[in-house]
Amino acid sequence: MVVSSPCWACGVTGGADWINVDGTGVLVHNARGRERCPVAVPFDWATGTPLAVLAGAVAA
Ligand SMILES: [Zn+2]
Repeated sequence: MVVSSPCWACGVTGGADWINVDGTGVLVHNARGRERCPVAVPFDWATGTPLAVLAGAVAA
């Protein structure tokens, strides 16, 4: 019996993993066809810098 922990960011069951998509680290849900977690903040895979600014609202 496999016990997987829920997504730490949004709590969906089935677990989640960070993957590299075009140099950006994004959190995807394992149990939902690798959909991106809508809550987790992506980061620059090379530097580890969070991309919250890019993912957030456009500054005036
Ligand atoms: Zn999630």
